[in-house]
Amino acid sequence: MYQAFLLRYAEIGIKGKNRYKFENALCEQIRYRLDKIEGNFLVVREQGRIYVEAQDEFDFEEAIDAMRHVFGVSSISPVEVIEDKSWENLKQKVGDFVEHQYPKRDFTFKVKAKRSDKHYIYTSPEICAELGGVLLERFPELSVDVHDPQALLWVEVRDKAYVYSKVYAGACGMPLGTNGKAMLLLSGGIDSPVAGYMIAKRGVYIEAVYFHAPPYTSERAKQKVVELAEIVSGYAGKIRLHVVDFTEIQMYIYEVCPHEELTIIMRRYMMRIAEILAGQNDCLGLITGESIGQVASQTMHSLAATDDACTMPVYRPLIGFDKQEIVELSEKIGTFETSIQPYEDCCTIFVAKHPVTHPRVDVIRNSEKKLAEKMDEMMKKALDTVEVIEVAK
Ligand code: ATP
Ligand code: MG
Repeated sequence: MYQAFLLRYAEIGIKGKNRYKFENALCEQIRYRLDKIEGNFLVVREQGRIYVEAQDEFDFEEAIDAMRHVFGVSSISPVEVIEDKSWENLKQKVGDFVEHQYPKRDFTFKVKAKRSDKHYIYTSPEICAELGGVLLERFPELSVDVHDPQALLWVEVRDKAYVYSKVYAGACGMPLGTNGKAMLLLSGGIDSPVAGYMIAKRGVYIEAVYFHAPPYTSERAKQKVVELAEIVSGYAGKIRLHVVDFTEIQMYIYEVCPHEELTIIMRRYMMRIAEILAGQNDCLGLITGESIGQVASQTMHSLAATDDACTMPVYRPLIGFDKQEIVELSEKIGTFETSIQPYEDCCTIFVAKHPVTHPRVDVIRNSEKKLAEKMDEMMKKALDTVEVIEVAK
């Protein structure tokens, strides 16, 4: 029965003079998501809110789901639009709304009214009181509880009148396109897709890079990363995934460097390549799924040694999260089931039994000198043979 939705946003409200830019970006993102589903929707901005009006048939669940994937939207209410807001009609329509929405009417309620039309015959408190009375008369099973009602019935009188009672949580954050672009190091694990989601949530478009090591990592492992990128793109918009063939570099490090330093040196080359790709694609930073102390390569010492290899800012949104918190987020955004599929990512094969947990940057740099002979050539080859896969869910 709903033909319209009211979308609220939070942080954009405090953006002062630039606010319209954020609102425009938000409307654009809402249109982008709704374009992907059946139906024809009009997205309009009005006094600190956004209304979406359906122009023809659509699937309710699908529409709510699409809007819940838009960063910047804090909540969504399906609303009934009452074109003729005259008091007689309003009373009737609000009653009809309750009748349709609540087949069982044995609950407590409270009417909340807002009016931006200051010429309306009643003030907001009067609308609440009057409509409360009208509803009690029409549905004697209902009762009013102004302190802790089971249902809150919102009535807004603007140029038209609106009635609604349900509120769905939105994704929150900032609209995509309001904050530049960053390069996500995306592996097949649990953490990095969540990290990408978190940064995209702040309005940042993302690109991704995956270091593939065939035949040590299978085609299926790569497919899993593509799937993860796809799920993240359900929120983050189009993602270009750069697949780098890392085998040769990895083998070379394995041959030449001390095995306990393998992971850290590999990670440093990943950062270097990611940084070059980031630069080529207008990205302003790198994103990883690291969290302090999670594994040997993520101690404070290891992170410092990793950072030493690149100059771009490295964003690590999960830095203070426990594994369990990351798992919960990955379940929420829908990447968990894919992440736990048992296909090796390239790091699991080349892990040393006793990796260094307190690497010294000077020692690592020294080990890397042994790679001087062939590394430049290998890096160039890896960059020249990058495969780009575009995903957009
Ligand atoms: P994840 O669950 O994201 O794989 P993890 O706990 O397995 O993380 P590591 O394997 O130590 O941690 O990797 C740390 C970070 O380095 C990852 O979060 C990811 O950003 C990046 N990374 C690791 N391996 C790869 C890879 N093969 N391709 C791209 N990025 C990678
Ligand atoms: Mg991993």
